[in-house]
Amino acid sequence: MERVLAGKKGAPWIDLSSPLEEEAPLAFVTEALCKAAGKAHMGPLQGDPALRKEIAECEYAGLEISPGEIFLSDGARSDLFHLQELFDAQNTVALPDPSYPFYLESSVIAGRTKPWRKSGGYGGVVYLPSGEAEQFEPKPPRESVDLIYLCSPSNPTGTALSRGTLETWVDFARKKEAVLFFDATYAPFLQSKDAPSSIYAIAGANEVAVEVKSFSKRGGLSHLRCSYTVVPKSLKVKDTGRLHSLHALWERQQALRFRGVPPLLQSGIFALYTPEGRRESAARIASLQGKSQKLLNALRKEGHTVYGGTDAPLLWWKAPEGLSSWDFFLLLLEKAQLVTLPGTRFGMGGEGFVRLSAFAPLEKIEEALERIKKLSL
Ligand code: PLP
Repeated sequence: MERVLAGKKGAPWIDLSSPLEEEAPLAFVTEALCKAAGKAHMGPLQGDPALRKEIAECEYAGLEISPGEIFLSDGARSDLFHLQELFDAQNTVALPDPSYPFYLESSVIAGRTKPWRKSGGYGGVVYLPSGEAEQFEPKPPRESVDLIYLCSPSNPTGTALSRGTLETWVDFARKKEAVLFFDATYAPFLQSKDAPSSIYAIAGANEVAVEVKSFSKRGGLSHLRCSYTVVPKSLKVKDTGRLHSLHALWERQQALRFRGVPPLLQSGIFALYTPEGRRESAARIASLQGKSQKLLNALRKEGHTVYGGTDAPLLWWKAPEGLSSWDFFLLLLEKAQLVTLPGTRFGMGGEGFVRLSAFAPLEKIEEALERIKKLSL
């Protein structure tokens, strides 16, 4: 069946689906990369100690995170994938539903293919309802789980987890000897006062949580592939009854699979922490927040139910009564040439929603809002 998409009959399509920026990368970072070209030498596996010190001081001020616990890497995706691979397929994974699909997909590739009950209680996946009814805050399950993914601010819902919820999870992980993978990729956008930008703001988290943060979303930097992961030295994991340092295991794994972020690239990332880099990065974040707020306000003004948009440039838009995620996705695509993502792409808990992102240029967002108005939904 041929579907008429953009260009043929309707207006050109507008992509509100992808969190990749269409804008150019931050100029200050590009300049630093050019200056460093030809000068950078092979550095330590974990990353330039001076850059890790800067990250520890800027991102973890007042928290117990040292530069030695920070590993620079080639993207949050790679690290989230490789972290779970350190654990046997018999470990059970807990995932918010809806959540970033990559958590499930990487767990399935690692052999955790079945829902927990069907797996006979070993390995498998426990889904944590985290939809509108739960106010997007997953609660610990009754089952014992080993690996837990939390994402705040969340892709897809754009909402952030409260301090209280994070405390509950840290407490649960300590009691169950589980490991928390805390994906804080969207932390630079966080505005809610009650939502910590790091899991280490919660007492005891250093014993149970790994935190992943990316440089991708701070302003056209996705293509540079750079992120960092914090693996605290006090985090211990059990293997046949013996305790091991996850930090040591991760260091070994990274040494085997990945020889570190190219020093040239690190010079560009370093520029983000200079006064000019910070100003430029803050301006880009503010611009994305502005576009996101514009989408949120305009849709709500039209009477739509929309969540997120404030703590991340992602919006979770409820379909009109009687429409499924896919119905609504197709309606927006075919009637207004707007590309969104059906909520079920993020798990069955995403039924009845579509996800929008605010990474498109402002004029496209304004045009999208005009088209939505004309739909009279
Ligand atoms: N985590 C979340 C929640 C994301 O939305 C994304 C990218 O969209 C990533 C991780 C991947 O980040 P990176 O570009 O550093 O691999």
